[in-house]
Amino acid sequence: RPAIVWFRRDLRLRDLPALLSAAATAPRGVALFVLDDALLRPAGPRRRSYLMRCLHALDDDLSGRLVVVRGDPADAVPAVAREFDASEVHVSEDFGPYGRQRDARVAEALGDVPLVASGSPYAVSPGRIVKADGTPYKVFSAYRRAWFDHGTRPPAHTGAETVEWLDSAGVKSRVPIPEPEDVTLPPAGERAALARWREFVADGLGRYATDRDRPALDGTSRLSAHLKFGCIHPRTLLHDLRDHRGDGAATFRSELAWRDFYADVLHHRPDTARKNYNRTFDAIEYDTGPDADALFTAWCEGRTGFPIVDAGMRQLLEEGFVPNRVRMIVASFLTKDLHIPWWRGARHFMRYLADGDLASNQHNWQWTAGSGTDAAPYFRIFNPTTQGEKFDPKGDYVRRWVPELRSVVGRRVHTLPDGPPTGYPAPVVDHAHERRTALERYGRIRTTN
Ligand code: FAD
Repeated sequence: RPAIVWFRRDLRLRDLPALLSAAATAPRGVALFVLDDALLRPAGPRRRSYLMRCLHALDDDLSGRLVVVRGDPADAVPAVAREFDASEVHVSEDFGPYGRQRDARVAEALGDVPLVASGSPYAVSPGRIVKADGTPYKVFSAYRRAWFDHGTRPPAHTGAETVEWLDSAGVKSRVPIPEPEDVTLPPAGERAALARWREFVADGLGRYATDRDRPALDGTSRLSAHLKFGCIHPRTLLHDLRDHRGDGAATFRSELAWRDFYADVLHHRPDTARKNYNRTFDAIEYDTGPDADALFTAWCEGRTGFPIVDAGMRQLLEEGFVPNRVRMIVASFLTKDLHIPWWRGARHFMRYLADGDLASNQHNWQWTAGSGTDAAPYFRIFNPTTQGEKFDPKGDYVRRWVPELRSVVGRRVHTLPDGPPTGYPAPVVDHAHERRTALERYGRIRTTN
């Protein structure tokens, strides 16, 4: 009897512990992916499209043997298991709130056929590292120390040849992999992820620590969407970095620790996908009503009159990506200059980001809003103009994304001393005034709690 390998957020064949466990039980395998509308609907066209490209790439690597079906996994997975008379179903463990309850339902529906989890999308799986008293870490620096001490396993030696994949042509419920929606995206899938990683190690890693905050330089790995869908595993990256010294490699490892940390936080507190981690912040006064809605729309469309904010928001719409520094600037602007709750911004990000990931997104938003684990202190309010001048000192990033500002020379693009050029809006708010308002509101909850 064959074993099923049910792919979810692990769309690769190398370094895949679930594939290794499948091979240990049966020499023949069935590669399965379920198109689950509960996940596809909220993903937005860019992430959906990225996923479809990954599936096409995986199917190519499996010589056309990927079985793709559509429906509720609690119906679809048992149906395929029956059709192949499978002995077991192997997966990488999903720690997200939806994934956990879906897998519980699927395990029950499978009856006698075990659902076996091996590995996860993380270097160190959520829940694995706890403090001496058994409670989860709440402060990143302490978590990171424990994360380094814990270490990671060496990569699993797997590939297309690890099992003999059964032909999927005759599967009754099989559907074609949908064609990707027509959006521009970088190449997707395992080969693309590995190629990008090698390119980054050769050209980017050495200057990563300094260039990562300079959005015009594209100094980061751009692996986030690949990591999101598991086209490459962080264990592979950490293994390749083991002999690399220097600030670039150290900073990069630390960023991977943030990814694991936020997954760990969400695992222990699934409520924080929607709610403040620090419930004191429930008392923060946010703006609502038609004026706030109009400001929110201006932010979404990149028409706030703050050049670095608008550049970031337009890059999000056009590319489905924003560099980390700019994500922090636009998030701070929404919550502290426009006084709009973080979850509205987080929802917009999740709709447009190709790398949109519940744990990383919601918790980075909460870091900015001040309500997260060891969040930015409430009085740390980014000035969008000085942030622009500091991190985009020549103004190239803003000119790349805001065509109306292309004729403005150098860093003046951040201050617009001659006023906004035709077609570009005046600032929608006065930063100094909004900063005071935010400080008052945040100060109030600190004194009353
Ligand atoms: P690199 O700088 O090359 O970093 C390598 C990898 O480390 C990233 O791919 C990512 O997996 C991880 N990483 C880096 N920074 C962080 C971080 N702050 N938190 C968690 N992991 C990190 N990242 C997502 O993957 N999905 C999201 O939905 C997401 N939403 C965010 C929302 C806000 C408001 C902010 C401030 C940050 C968000 N991030 C998110 C984190 C970070 O901005 C992106 O991971 C990073 O910009 C991706 O680009 P890169 O792959 O070139 O990163």
